Amino acid sequence: MSAPTERTDRYVPHHPGRLWRHAEPKASYDVVIIGGGGHGLATAYYLARNHGITNVAVVERGWLAGGNMARNTAIIRSNYLWDESAAIYEHALKLWEGLTEELDYDILFSQRGVINLAHNLGDIREGQRRVNANRLNGVDAEWLSPDDVKRLCPIVNISPDVRYPVLGGTYQPRGGIAKHDNVAWAYARGAADLGVDLIEGAEVTAIDVDGGRVIGVRTSRGRIAAGKVAIVAAGHASVVAAMAGLRLPLQSHPLQALVSELLEPVHPNVVMSNAVHVYVSQAHKGELVMGAGIDSYNGYSQRGGFHVIEHQLAAALELFPLFSRAHVLRTWGGIVDVSPDASPIISLTPVQGLYLDCGWGTGGFKATPASGWVMAHTVANDAPHELNRPFALERFETGALIDEHGAAAVAH
Ligand SMILES: Cc1cc2nc3c(=O)[nH]c(=O)nc-3n(C[C@H](O)[C@H](O)[C@H](O)COP(=O)(O)OP(=O)(O)OC[C@H]3O[C@@H](n4cnc5c(N)ncnc54)[C@H](O)[C@@H]3O)c2cc1C
Repeated sequence: MSAPTERTDRYVPHHPGRLWRHAEPKASYDVVIIGGGGHGLATAYYLARNHGITNVAVVERGWLAGGNMARNTAIIRSNYLWDESAAIYEHALKLWEGLTEELDYDILFSQRGVINLAHNLGDIREGQRRVNANRLNGVDAEWLSPDDVKRLCPIVNISPDVRYPVLGGTYQPRGGIAKHDNVAWAYARGAADLGVDLIEGAEVTAIDVDGGRVIGVRTSRGRIAAGKVAIVAAGHASVVAAMAGLRLPLQSHPLQALVSELLEPVHPNVVMSNAVHVYVSQAHKGELVMGAGIDSYNGYSQRGGFHVIEHQLAAALELFPLFSRAHVLRTWGGIVDVSPDASPIISLTPVQGLYLDCGWGTGGFKATPASGWVMAHTVANDAPHELNRPFALERFETGALIDEHGAAAVAH
């Protein structure tokens, strides 16, 4: 009996088509982007879409979006204190509001509101100041009483008899969450459709500089010549920049998060608490998604100390007694690049044709669209966009810091 032949006329695929092509590295590109996380993919997409630059490679040492992009708690908000930060994060939020249509992919963007709790006089002063600053910048912001908090999120314990009583909070109704994997895949597909090569499993091991100008990168899959190189490597930004002789003012730390088992809908919005140090939302699927604080030591392992999540859960139970019956399903960690003023670096460098997009620390997911937008502009024009001009490397020499330690006091 002859072997059965495949009936191609009736073939029905079990999986949807590939989202992007797996490209082999070419000998040279106009632009090489080091790092295939959310920011690198968004930069590639906007380089092609906004500036018509399509001879671009994203070079990723692992798999696309397997770094912090896959590991964050997906909180999105724009209620930062200073004008410069409000402008860039609000630009991101406006892009988020149209991103599903723009990329033709459901990123599960849910504007369910973000509450930042106040537990002491310092929190109240910082929060009220930030609400006023946000309003002046056209960012939606409200101050909540403890009863308002209870009305918006009934499972928060507002009893005055706890270690960290809820004394009020800030509220950004347009804040929320999105599905991080979908965001990365949507940008990857959009960039690949416009002609960008997405090269996975290629670690950059050296950056070639000649006469003060970048000329290419060396990777575990061979040498690639490049007219311009963008370092968008998050927790490894300082390691990669050192390959071009640059020492960055960044510290890399492990940052952890965890999810509970699947629950019925119990938590309607996002609640963050700086003093207690917990931030929690409920994913579309039903898990409670909780972020922890950074491990205090520097490190490059994608896991953190057990004591950090132990502390985080103790704190979470005080705020949400209901969680005492939930089981932890998974914990994991990422590597975050923390700058001295808790603000990002999006900048030209002393090496011609070499650009930086890093320092987003514990809070860069929310900025993904704007980061890509302004980084693409910076690379395309060899000059910063007006939104990232204040976030240049030079601020650490001039002292024009953008201190967002208040808005970023809790990892998020
Ligand atoms: C636990 C956790 C919770 C977080 N929660 C939030 C949150 O709720 N909201 C928020 O706004 N932000 C949050 N963040 C921060 C956010 O995830 C990051 O700021 C953001 O993802 C960084 O940009 P990225 O997506 O491009 O990084 P990444 O996804 O880490 O991308 C960088 C890529 O560079 C690659 N790379 C590194 N070195 C090399 C090399 N030599 N060659 C080639 N490729 C290289 C890496 O493999 C990686 O894929 C959180 C982070 C963590 C870890």
